[in-house]
Amino acid sequence: ARAAIGFRENGYEGPVTLVSDESLLPYDRPPLSKAALSGDAEPEPVYLLDADMMRSLNVTFMGGAAAVAIDRAAKILTLSSGQALSYEKLLIATGAAPRKLTLAGGESALDLRNLGDAIRIRNSFSAGVNVVIIGGGFIGLELAASAVKRGCLVTVIEAQPRILMRGVPSEISDVIMARHLKAGNTILTGSAISHIEADSVVLADGRRIAADIVIAGIGAAPRVELAAQAGLELDNGIACDTGMRTSDPNIYAVGDCCSFPHPIFGGVRLRLEAWRNASDQAVIAVENMLGGDRQYESVPWFWSDQFELTLQIAGMPGLGVSTVLRPLKDGAFILCHLDTAGTLVGASGIGQGNTIARDVRLLEMLIGKRMKPDTAILADGASQLKALLKA
Ligand code: NAP
Repeated sequence: ARAAIGFRENGYEGPVTLVSDESLLPYDRPPLSKAALSGDAEPEPVYLLDADMMRSLNVTFMGGAAAVAIDRAAKILTLSSGQALSYEKLLIATGAAPRKLTLAGGESALDLRNLGDAIRIRNSFSAGVNVVIIGGGFIGLELAASAVKRGCLVTVIEAQPRILMRGVPSEISDVIMARHLKAGNTILTGSAISHIEADSVVLADGRRIAADIVIAGIGAAPRVELAAQAGLELDNGIACDTGMRTSDPNIYAVGDCCSFPHPIFGGVRLRLEAWRNASDQAVIAVENMLGGDRQYESVPWFWSDQFELTLQIAGMPGLGVSTVLRPLKDGAFILCHLDTAGTLVGASGIGQGNTIARDVRLLEMLIGKRMKPDTAILADGASQLKALLKA
């Protein structure tokens, strides 16, 4: 959707066609694990491009049929409906698909990726229902926060020794864990599952957890079937260069489905599953598809809302070797992650409402500029980070 808008923003007047295996016009997914589940009414799609916008942008939407094959020599895309579309330039933004549970009974677990999934899950959330969520990642925890708000009895089962083990520092996951426990949710970490039965999830140690509904949030895998069929290079997703070009000069890829070298972090190849990344990459890909030569160099950023808490992470905290704590008001805080040279490489924070938003935004800018900030200023929550940017 962002790319379709981008073609017109860049003055391109030729035909633009948006193909989707879903019938709905492009809609926003972050609300699906949050507001869509906790509201009183059945959720409505929040469109990124509604019918009026499609018309005014003169974008053709072909929904309800998947793109299944690319003939790169003839530059033809074939849909599951049998229709063939010729292209000059093709953008693949196929996203990621939920990983499936492979254990016995796992096929009965619900997962969450689209609006239909969210409606199915929401309709099962009512007072007193035993909800078991497998996976203590973003989907699992946002679902758990929404379920308890609707009166469900919630158990989250995470295989790792703590929740949000990958990408979120323990200081922050501890705050989130405590908030879930305060709400009455049970969180079992370091817990392996044996199998799922009709009314319970059975753990490897024999414990049985009563379950009226089981939902899996055990990670996502890039959707690369189309790219693989076309023989495009793959490397943890569709392999792109910094300009979002695949190994075919007429085909680009953006979002969760692709990996790319990140210039700010020494060219390390990343694949990001985050809203803003997908949107920013689409802007770059479109400019390059129209003959430009820009590289994607935005600082990765994402957020999660659970209860009244907002978590935000900018940059690559995992590349840090030391951490400076920046305390903020009302118990909020940000961890600033520095590499061996003292360069700021990441910022991760948690707080109520928008308490951390402004500082994370400024830290994100410092990360983008590869700055080595004065750690005394970082550690003083009353200091102005803007001054560091000027320095
Ligand atoms: P995720 O954040 O990767 O978390 C999945 C968690 O489940 C991991 O901790 C994983 O451990 C664990 N796990 C895997 N297999 C398990 C098993 N058999 N039993 C128990 N635990 C298991 O993935 P997700 O929460 O499913 O989210 C999927 C996608 O939705 C991602 O693209 C995510 O970015 C996106 N999403 C994002 C947000 C947000 O940014 N706020 C919100 C909702 C969804 P291992 O790491 O060891 O596999």
